[in-house]
Amino acid sequence: MSSALVQNYARIDVAFERGEGAYLHAEDGRRFLDFASGIGVNSLGHAHPGVTQALKDQADKLLHVSNLYNIPSQTRLAERLVANSFADRAFFCNSGAEAVEAALKMARIHHSTNGQPERYRVVTAVGAFHGRTLATIAAGGQAKHLDGFGPKVEGFDQIALNDLDAAKQAVGPETAAILVEPLQGEGGIHMADSEFLAGLRALADEAGILLIYDEIQCGMGRTGKLWAHEWSGVTPDIMTLAKALGNGFPIGAVLCTEAVAATLVPGKHGTTFGGNPLAMSVANAVLDEMLADGFLAHVERMGALLRERLEKLIGNKRVFSEVRGKGLMLGLQCTGSNLELMAALREEGLLSVVADSNALRLLPPLIIDEAQIDEACAALQRACAAIES
Ligand SMILES: *Cc1c(COP(=O)(O)O)cnc(C)c1O
Repeated sequence: MSSALVQNYARIDVAFERGEGAYLHAEDGRRFLDFASGIGVNSLGHAHPGVTQALKDQADKLLHVSNLYNIPSQTRLAERLVANSFADRAFFCNSGAEAVEAALKMARIHHSTNGQPERYRVVTAVGAFHGRTLATIAAGGQAKHLDGFGPKVEGFDQIALNDLDAAKQAVGPETAAILVEPLQGEGGIHMADSEFLAGLRALADEAGILLIYDEIQCGMGRTGKLWAHEWSGVTPDIMTLAKALGNGFPIGAVLCTEAVAATLVPGKHGTTFGGNPLAMSVANAVLDEMLADGFLAHVERMGALLRERLEKLIGNKRVFSEVRGKGLMLGLQCTGSNLELMAALREEGLLSVVADSNALRLLPPLIIDEAQIDEACAALQRACAAIES
């Protein structure tokens, strides 16, 4: 469809008018079960009453004031994130890429301030996705994102995920940090093993460098723990968040240790909108839900159930051959085309999202129930039959 928009997205020809919980209603009257969640964003589902009320209440009072002033709801959100993580401090911005940019700048200035300005390089993993700014496409290292945009931002070295020997080789006197997603999303649902993360932690400590986790997609309860790295028990020095933190309201965050925070002094970094009262009220409302008793246990239970049902549908392996991931961040390894499976599922009323490695991601809202899992699996069964016929 030709329009006044820049043509940078290959859009699916459907427009949604409203949502409720796990469902989206299209303008043409069709209803879909949403296992894409706006790419892992709408984790509390659509039109969540608590989130909507917080947004409305705050909109009546104040949208934005600037970080020139104290913002009590920002302090409160930081305290809550810190109390529930490895971190001592939080910084707020507006998107995932912006959070990763801030994390990269923190790693560089940390070493520079501590007398090692030569340490600016960052080791990243093959298949990583960290955003679309110039530095974050360099961090991701994917040719399809870099080609045509001139010289790649200097200072990124890539290793294969879970290859600890390669990580040891890659760390040198100019290395500032290692940056990984504990569970890769865009790359095709690939998990960093616990031994790998523990090895990176030891390597970072030994070299005096920082370990950064990008939990923009796998964090905020998506895997059944608040942070995906909790499955390994290995904590980072810096962690980036975005996506589900605002349940659809744009927000990004960087959590870090005191030692890292200490070097980002006034004037070194900033953002106009980051942490404004409207974003903060929404994110605090999201945390109210996610920190409530039983929320994460529900995600874990639904994740196990969905996985078990999906594994039963692997069948004769003509459509997908494997289910991987954790909690409600699951990927099907397609044997045919992931795009074809996504389209067939949509025909059956189920939204999903493709990923690299010819995978199909299932990222349902975390509030999903057993009946909706049954509904999704029935749609998958029909879609597989349609593809195989
Ligand atoms: C989505 C994503 C980003 C980029 O977030 P934007 O808000 O699109 O800039 C970065 N890292 C990971 C792991 C992501 O999933």
